[in-house]
Amino acid sequence: MIAVAPSFSEAELLSLWEKGFSLGAAGRALALAEAGGGAEPGTAADLPIGRRDAILLSLHESWFGERLRCSVTCPSCQGRLETEVSTVDLRVSAGTTGPVLSGGLELDVRPVSTADLLAVRDRRALLLRCVRSARKGKRAVPPAKLPEEALDAVAAALPELDPQADVSLGMSCASCAHEWGAPFDIAGYLWAVLDTHARRLLYEIHELATAYGWTEREVLSVGPARRRFYLEAART
Ligand SMILES: [Zn+2]
Repeated sequence: MIAVAPSFSEAELLSLWEKGFSLGAAGRALALAEAGGGAEPGTAADLPIGRRDAILLSLHESWFGERLRCSVTCPSCQGRLETEVSTVDLRVSAGTTGPVLSGGLELDVRPVSTADLLAVRDRRALLLRCVRSARKGKRAVPPAKLPEEALDAVAAALPELDPQADVSLGMSCASCAHEWGAPFDIAGYLWAVLDTHARRLLYEIHELATAYGWTEREVLSVGPARRRFYLEAART
């Protein structure tokens, strides 16, 4: 059975899974963030990725608890490592603010949002969307005329502006002693957990619908304890 927040029914969870099923990674992350609340309706897309991911961490806590199990491949020996982390350990403090300086240019930069990821795929276009304004001395420089070095400086500054969007797990390989930071994506992780739970629930619905002739709605209206009994009875 699926443990969901009291305010989020199994039927709603299945609807969310179905909505995200046909979407890409950024679209799924947005659908999850919108489901999780924490932002005004319709504004989740414009949140910095770190703010969005903080919502997704809370959503994981609410639906599945604080513990996350991760499987990571060692980049040195290709061995598989299993690790468990707490959502508490994945929360980082707010980022820095202030202009990005590069080659005499002063750039006012904002963090990347989900809307940016949905709007553009090209790296340069993505970085340019994050430049609110650029100046050289007192002269304004159109972002479209910024040199590559300036955009490299923007890219380098983004993790400091929004550290919650750039979380990694401190890993140490027991086989080869290699140590590294493995990037962690709560959006992809939460989707994978939701996907597993939704599919398990759908199989339960299929099994009970087949055994008793119930509709999906009728299966979902049966409480977890009684549903477990009916499943066991149908299997014997
Ligand atoms: Zn290793």
